[in-house]
Amino acid sequence: MKRLITFFVALLLCVGIVDAQGQAKYVFYFIGDGLGINHIHGTELYNAAVKSDMANEGRLSFTRFPIRTFITSHSSSSLVTDSSAAATALSSGVKTVNGYMGVDAEKCPVKNIAEIASEAGMMVGVATNVGVNHATPSAFFAHCESRSNYGEIFDQLLASGVDFAAGSTILCRKKSGVTPEDCIEKAEQAGMKVVQDAKAAGKVRGKRVLLLSDNLKQKALKYANDCAAGDMTIVDYTDAAIKYLERESKDNGFFLMVEAGHIDYVAHDNDAVTTFEEINHLSESVQLALDFYEKHPTETLIIVTADHETGGLSLGYSNYKMNMERLAWQKCSMLTLTSKMRTMRAEGKISWEDMERLLRNELGFWDKVRLRKKDEQQLRKTFEKSFVAKSEEVVSLYNHNEKMASVAVEILNKRAYLKWISLDHTGMQVPLFIKGAGLEHFTECYDNTDVPKGIAKAMGLAF
Ligand SMILES: [Zn+2]
Repeated sequence: MKRLITFFVALLLCVGIVDAQGQAKYVFYFIGDGLGINHIHGTELYNAAVKSDMANEGRLSFTRFPIRTFITSHSSSSLVTDSSAAATALSSGVKTVNGYMGVDAEKCPVKNIAEIASEAGMMVGVATNVGVNHATPSAFFAHCESRSNYGEIFDQLLASGVDFAAGSTILCRKKSGVTPEDCIEKAEQAGMKVVQDAKAAGKVRGKRVLLLSDNLKQKALKYANDCAAGDMTIVDYTDAAIKYLERESKDNGFFLMVEAGHIDYVAHDNDAVTTFEEINHLSESVQLALDFYEKHPTETLIIVTADHETGGLSLGYSNYKMNMERLAWQKCSMLTLTSKMRTMRAEGKISWEDMERLLRNELGFWDKVRLRKKDEQQLRKTFEKSFVAKSEEVVSLYNHNEKMASVAVEILNKRAYLKWISLDHTGMQVPLFIKGAGLEHFTECYDNTDVPKGIAKAMGLAF
């Protein structure tokens, strides 16, 4: 009888009726915070237009995965989710209230996919380019009433089954008086090896790892287009996590969640070029998972998705036009442009000629990007009113930008025919890309809560 069954399964495999993939032993779960469908398509158009040496017409590493679909992202309290409710849905398959972390709408803790993997003997990694106890990573190890209870969340990380944790810093509430350095001490007492270098983190043996940046005051790693050679990025963090987990998990498998958290930060600023460059970093991180997949093709599952869309990015808004080439001249993020403007002011360089020089250098205005008369008028007016007369800011969720920097970047975006409708999250559906072992468990994904349930099934586990 057994022989007969084997024969039939072999026959079905031959005719392609049964998927030849096995159970997912290595799971990569990439979450682009704030990553909308237009952000992704915009990045590919941007790459094709401004990185002409990039192979494959600007394609990102994950946009041709066999499953390419979209999912709803609302929370139980709002059609527009925040990151902690969405991350709870993506980690545990349960809808909750905006601001809640790893608990349901009644504040009861809910089990997440990382905990299930850990209980099954797999190793667990959680990496982000923002604070290690920020909303998205925390949904994979913490359960509490508020995403802002940073101390409680960090304590739960230490007590969790997470073997490799990486972030820019450890977030601490100001009024608590606790510093990231205090938290590091706690982590070491809990037996974790704390490392501030990605290469070294990937080499740690026999100990749990906490990887942080070398500047704990920075709430996030440097943005992709502000990085100098040697600055650590989410790509380095992903590389370190894979090296550590591949070696330390021996033959037990692993679950790795990587959050590209910057995308949300810069989309809240409506900074298109920096958003696209951050998505390129996500793409490079996914490529590392694809390299791993090549070694274990029947046992590796890769998922790329988002918690929500940020900014309501529109690609083209007038007369069938889009001109991505004009974005090629933006050299730094809006936040760095802000700090350059602040340096100018501190040095007493507040003439229009000084400002013109900065905008020529950093955004390519006039020399490379022709400005319309109304653009120039808007720049001059903002300069007099918001830079010379007083220092006016545009406050987004994570950054305080000079109004002058915000207006200048907005003008550049409009010259490319890109427009943002919001400084906040939207209720749009978000993308979902899947490749590898257990694909059949995702064919009916409709809502963000379906994703972790599919992962559990692909791993042969259950909530
Ligand atoms: Zn956000």
